[in-house]
Amino acid sequence: MIHSKAYAALSASSPLTPFEIQRRNPGPEDVQIDILFCGVCHSDLHTARNEWANTLYPSVPGHEIVGRVVAVGDRVTGFKVGDLAGVGCMVDSCGHCHPCDEGEEQYCENGFTGTYNGPVFGGENTYGGYSQTIVVKESFVLHIHHDEKDLANVAPLLCAGITTYSPLRHWKAGPGKKVGIVGLGGLGHMGVKIAHAMGAYVVLFTTSPGKIEDGKRLGADEVCISSDPAQMTAHANQFDFILNTVAAPHDLDAFLQLLKLDGTMTLVGAPAAPHPSPNVFNLIFKRRQLAGSLIGGIRETQEMLDFCAQHDIVSDIELINMDYINTAYERMLKSDVKYRFVINMANL
Ligand SMILES: [Zn+2]
Ligand SMILES: [Zn+2]
Repeated sequence: MIHSKAYAALSASSPLTPFEIQRRNPGPEDVQIDILFCGVCHSDLHTARNEWANTLYPSVPGHEIVGRVVAVGDRVTGFKVGDLAGVGCMVDSCGHCHPCDEGEEQYCENGFTGTYNGPVFGGENTYGGYSQTIVVKESFVLHIHHDEKDLANVAPLLCAGITTYSPLRHWKAGPGKKVGIVGLGGLGHMGVKIAHAMGAYVVLFTTSPGKIEDGKRLGADEVCISSDPAQMTAHANQFDFILNTVAAPHDLDAFLQLLKLDGTMTLVGAPAAPHPSPNVFNLIFKRRQLAGSLIGGIRETQEMLDFCAQHDIVSDIELINMDYINTAYERMLKSDVKYRFVINMANL
């Protein structure tokens, strides 16, 4: 076994503290990656604090992992020692159900194995990226083609990037399409950048007038203050697609009525309490659709990384040391970060 330093929550109410974990020795199909940077996702906080009531302790969060390959198994063909590599939200899936066959492992009918807190359906706990090193099956390891100097800013693409890229692709954001992005946080700021790069006309919806300038800098063609009914009315019946990244329960009708005939609004934020039910008439009268989407498959995650490298897209981050994580969590709860914390593992 390989000893690895890590940071773990030992219970729902204890702060994260230094902790030692074991990684398996790389098998024939495994890649071992020394972790250089790990992004901090809201799911990390939900899991560390058992807010989804399924956490196995000790809990080592982190699923926006980038690092360098330090060992490969005999049968590994796509990676060699020294390569940059990434790991996102999944490290395994059943490999033989319909979604797995289609490359949509995130919808695996037998439950994919999460990078941390993995065995929702039984098996051993998995430990995430708040650690020195990780061993992952090659088929779940991603290639990084960004410039090495941007590596810290690449980390959040592994969750925030793919969570927004996948629905934007699925619902065909592109030239001639009017796309709304609701919320400018970790997910929303990636959504704005990616939708803009796909060639769509992008409108950012935010409640904060202070974010207008930033929204435009990130690639929004317009910024609409969603708490102003007059501004909202001006956008009624116009959108092909709206990506809603807000995790707090809110009135969905305010956005559904902005969709044109056959338009879709997709939710990617996971609220702890349900949104108020939307008004069905609002859906019926324009055949509008309300949908959801979960990260993306491995093939699509690679496509997203390559797209972002090609279009010079990275995340806007605040780089922190591992021992700052508990303070970072408190600041995340106040949305006090532009727009993602990333941990520098050199100082673990
Ligand atoms: Zn995440
Ligand atoms: Zn499967």
